[in-house]
Amino acid sequence: MRLDERLRGGEPIVSFEFLPPRTVEAELAFWSAIEELAALEPAFVSVTCGAGGTTRDLTLAVVRRLARERGLEAVPHVTATGFTREGLVELLAEARAGGANNVLALRGDPPRGQSTWTAPEGGVQSSLELIALAAEAGFSVLGAAYPETHRDSRGQAADLAHLRAKVDAGVKVLVTQLFFDNDDYRRFIDRAALDVPVLPGIIPVTSIKQIEHVAALCGARIPTALRRELERRQDDPRAVAELGVAYATAQAAELLADGAPGVHLYTLNRSPATRAIVSALRAHGSLPAAVIA
Ligand code: FAD
Repeated sequence: MRLDERLRGGEPIVSFEFLPPRTVEAELAFWSAIEELAALEPAFVSVTCGAGGTTRDLTLAVVRRLARERGLEAVPHVTATGFTREGLVELLAEARAGGANNVLALRGDPPRGQSTWTAPEGGVQSSLELIALAAEAGFSVLGAAYPETHRDSRGQAADLAHLRAKVDAGVKVLVTQLFFDNDDYRRFIDRAALDVPVLPGIIPVTSIKQIEHVAALCGARIPTALRRELERRQDDPRAVAELGVAYATAQAAELLADGAPGVHLYTLNRSPATRAIVSALRAHGSLPAAVIA
């Protein structure tokens, strides 16, 4: 189902992001996490694309299996980095033939060793062109948004102007970069004043090392109070993970109470934290109950 249509239904949704598994061991962990999390009936699951399009075929194959074998609405991430225009058109056609109704269209980061993004040879000039290609191919197009502003932006105003251009180019639903301070999302929503749903991206902290790494990669700020509580538990991995689940649950409940159209959970291919968060949100009435779970 097209997610723009699903979100018009008005009920808040939950969705999960996964990484395509690259080894046999990772594959086992991935499908076992899917087994657990599919039972929670997410509105969609998305599968990332390795930097520079390195997992192109794997991402598409996983999306196809998730749709065909698990009946999930599976959304491939597609990046402009690493592709010619023809390559993107081909990829989108393949994804469509594989049953995808939605696609997350991204510019992507600069290739390794390059500090600024430049269009690949024969490729599209920006995410805007990719978004238009995906819309032309019949997809409901998702795009990325940055509550803390993107590190490549020339300032908040330029970042927002570019975001509006993405919506004008065909983005129907936005998914945010992960963030830890709900005020960043609230201020962003007020500033942006867009008429497309903006799904907040939330990651449960499962270890201090993991979160330092992820936050550095995407430029997310860890609030002082959260950092202090994490550091107090640094010798107790279980306590860190418990805090991570409690924090993400409280964060999501507050966002949903404020009227967010749903929550998008970054799973890193693990199920326990995500399962605990969604179960608590449903028990609390923040999210509607699943039909079969
Ligand atoms: P854009 O929004 O097009 O550009 C990024 C920023 O650059 C803009 O916010 C803006 O500030 C500035 N900018 C760019 N062009 C202009 C312009 N013409 N005028 C003014 N400002 C401009 N990366 C992957 O490699 N694989 C993935 O699977 C993946 N999944 C992601 C999923 C989500 C939900 C998010 C939030 C990010 C994901 N990323 C992924 C990371 C993403 O590729 C990077 O953040 C990338 O640097 C930007 O991609 P974008 O499509 O958001 O770019």
